[in-house]
Amino acid sequence: MSDVDQAENVAPAQDEQEIPVLYLQAVERTYTQGDATLHILSGAELAIWAGQSVALVAPSGAGKSTLLHISGLLEHPDHGEVYIDGRATAILPDQERTRIRRNEIGFIYQSHHLLPEFTAIENVLLPQMIRGLSRAEARKRGEELLAYLGLSGRLHHRPAELSGGEQQRVAIARAVANAPRLLLADEPTGNLDVHTADHVFNALMQLVRASGLATIIATHNMELAARMDRRVTLKEGKVVELP
Ligand code: ADP
Ligand code: MG
Repeated sequence: MSDVDQAENVAPAQDEQEIPVLYLQAVERTYTQGDATLHILSGAELAIWAGQSVALVAPSGAGKSTLLHISGLLEHPDHGEVYIDGRATAILPDQERTRIRRNEIGFIYQSHHLLPEFTAIENVLLPQMIRGLSRAEARKRGEELLAYLGLSGRLHHRPAELSGGEQQRVAIARAVANAPRLLLADEPTGNLDVHTADHVFNALMQLVRASGLATIIATHNMELAARMDRRVTLKEGKVVELP
């Protein structure tokens, strides 16, 4: 039986035909701090299909970043399984997890994490060239993406020469440069003022809708969360759907 067949048997059905892009099954994660054991995720379940945007809204320390890191194969859960496009990832060798992370998953963090000595366009070229695209192919896509995000006039600026909102839009372009299936954003507008946050969020949602990505955005901003397809929170280590 192939991985895909197995996943079809366990993934909750939304559309019988469709396998979720991300499926977290019974995910457990505990941290030990001195004598204390922190149960951050205890049986977390979450399925997200292509084209869906999910807001992850929970207080600081609830485990949002932990859930995103596990979903993005940056961390292993202690128990449970992470399916990406129906494929179980726990037993995959690190090299294959890295390949999936590079090709299928995009990340956006609260601070832009751009390489300071490279220009905006170079920051967007790099992940594509690491994946094996030619510089010319990568440049074409990079310029299209940056133009889509309203940054045609900023291609050759270094991060320090960009505003906070511009830096985050470059980070968005970089995250989707390899046309991932899943986009994970950890409080991507958390460092921006209200107006800029709104602008960056709109650009992000427009891109998500146009590309059919599945996305999780951790945010404290209920107004932004209300504009996404679904809202979930973390309660006692479990993912709970919000109205
Ligand atoms: P959030 O992103 O919702 O603020 P996190 O996922 O970063 O929450 O962290 C959840 C909890 O787990 C926090 O209480 C944090 O202190 C704890 N935690 C996170 N990473 C570690 C670690 N490496 N070691 C010990 N505790 C950790
Ligand atoms: Mg966090």
